[in-house]
Amino acid sequence: MEQGRIVKGVGGFFSVLLADSSVVICKARGRFRNERVVPLVGDLAEISMPESGYAAIDKLLPRKNALLRPPVANIDQLVIVVAASAPKPDWLLVDKLILQAAQLRVAPLLVLNKLDECDQSVVDTFLEDYSAAFSPLLVSSKSGEGLDELSERLRERISCFAGQSAVGKSSLLNALFPGLALETGGLAKKTERGRHTTRQAELWPFLGGAVLDTPGFSLFELDELSQQTLDAGWPEFGNAPQNCRFAGCRHLSEPGCAVKQLLSQGALPRGRYERYVEIAMEIEQRRKHRYD
Ligand code: ZN
Repeated sequence: MEQGRIVKGVGGFFSVLLADSSVVICKARGRFRNERVVPLVGDLAEISMPESGYAAIDKLLPRKNALLRPPVANIDQLVIVVAASAPKPDWLLVDKLILQAAQLRVAPLLVLNKLDECDQSVVDTFLEDYSAAFSPLLVSSKSGEGLDELSERLRERISCFAGQSAVGKSSLLNALFPGLALETGGLAKKTERGRHTTRQAELWPFLGGAVLDTPGFSLFELDELSQQTLDAGWPEFGNAPQNCRFAGCRHLSEPGCAVKQLLSQGALPRGRYERYVEIAMEIEQRRKHRYD
């Protein structure tokens, strides 16, 4: 019995990465299908290797989290990429991604890319709003600036990249995995010819962790969030929510709100709070729409 991580799954065959860095191709036991459990890339699995025939996935270890799009389990970190030039940053999307990371119990890593052609006002907003709570990174996939630090932050974690299109997520992945990226280009072409083969997400081992090859993380709907989960998306609130006068305070216009107090003391970036309000209202609207 050995334990490893599923890094790839194609047509019922799973590549399982073992601690010694070797990869074993396995089939899942039939009972997974009976129990309607689909092994996911990212799953930790117990496997057995018979003398002949295929190795088998016997058991999946409990998942820390699981995403549907892309289908992957046990993500540790969501790398949220923003461009320092075009396209103009959608800060609301950034904050929704941070909230979603909190919901999945995944650490957010904020990365400002395209530093080589930066718009200083974007850099300023990025640092003003995110420095306090997120230790964000400034990088350029083109000049290579900040890539060593980014690599360090990916070490021993399972990371998934996210962000608006054209912010340079793929260029960052290419810069981190020059050889593998070429291989993927080849695979993608093959897939186009193959009949309706859906391309599966794949984990690329990296410094004791791994990076999901597809930067296709998509937001899911933000309804049905408890106030506590919503608060978790704003780590700069700190303990303030516990000190609000009313339990379940939404930090909008309630009296005795400790979050509003932080804001008035300048201890909370205004942009972050404004987007908190926008997101809280959006969730409220959706809830009303659903139950009224
Ligand atoms: Zn409050």
